[in-house]
Amino acid sequence: MRFFRRLMLCVAPALLGVAASEPLSESFDVSVPQLPQIVATDGGKAVRYELHLTNFATVPLAVRGILVTDADTGKILRSFSRRPLLTHLIPLSGTRDDPSSARVTIQPGARAVLYVELSGPLPRRIGHTVDYVAACETCPLRLEIPAVAVNQAAAVTLAPPLAAGPWAAVQSPDWPRGHRRVVYTLDGKARIPGRYAIDWVGLDDAGRTTRGDPDRAVDAIGYDAPVLAGADARVAAVRDGMVESASIARNPDHVLGDGSGNYVALDLGQGRYAFYEHLRPGSIQVKVGQRVRRGQAIGALGFSGDTTGPHLHLHVANGLDPLKAEGIPFVIDSYTEIGRYDDIGALGSKPWQSAGPTRKSHEWPASNVVVRFR
Ligand SMILES: [Zn+2]
Repeated sequence: MRFFRRLMLCVAPALLGVAASEPLSESFDVSVPQLPQIVATDGGKAVRYELHLTNFATVPLAVRGILVTDADTGKILRSFSRRPLLTHLIPLSGTRDDPSSARVTIQPGARAVLYVELSGPLPRRIGHTVDYVAACETCPLRLEIPAVAVNQAAAVTLAPPLAAGPWAAVQSPDWPRGHRRVVYTLDGKARIPGRYAIDWVGLDDAGRTTRGDPDRAVDAIGYDAPVLAGADARVAAVRDGMVESASIARNPDHVLGDGSGNYVALDLGQGRYAFYEHLRPGSIQVKVGQRVRRGQAIGALGFSGDTTGPHLHLHVANGLDPLKAEGIPFVIDSYTEIGRYDDIGALGSKPWQSAGPTRKSHEWPASNVVVRFR
């Protein structure tokens, strides 16, 4: 079968009367399901997007490196090889190569997703070059992927989702099961709703997350804090009435679709929706269709759904469903950054690394920063 396919590949150009300079090799089917969209963050600019590589060949294709470039100047923006390749190009099968091989093998019929985060000066068009080998180990192959346009649309602006603080803005692109890497395939499409999601965890000035029993949601510092509408908007969806587990440690898993817990979705216009999730049961003060004003209380921080502790989950997406929409960037119009957790494992047991305070205007809070709102 392999011979037959190779033969076909070799003879096809001749049959068409095309001069073949070198044998063709099968490569990947490549897609970028959601175009990169720029967001202001950490004093600069950033984008998050994914490159999907699908192997339709009958032989394994082993990726050895991927270069991300400015498609107009050729400048290298990011190089994925060795460890960064292994930690960012993830086969959906879960099958991983021996780390010492410094390659990611994508089996026939399989797909891998490259999770890309870029920061600094960003180009208008992004190029990608994939270096790989197929059946011939000593024959390096290179795939140049057509340039991907960067979406220049401004990110959604929201008012603070909470008051006062301090609040930890918990998010990282690198966690294997963090929002940024959780793909939901529903209604015939794979999407990442939480691409830019932030989990807001309440702290006291010593960095504690509870004022009593760490296993009781109601003792959490942030519990029952008013959740505030991010914009003048229409309430597009509400779910209330999901009960909370009496024990944080024994919060049961929920069926797909219930993980968001009690939530409010606000229609921000232009097909964009903000999701405020895990709200306290019975706390939601708004109804579908109602107009809300920026800063208006819409519910209270709680512990409903799939969560390891009371917090407010906030994300913005391009559709009205917590799971069936692509996450898009947002900025918060005003907040004060007072530090960050270099090690998020210390959340709740140690104070953050303080810095600043720095007033932030129209930025997306960076990974694990600690902020105060007015
Ligand atoms: Zn979340």
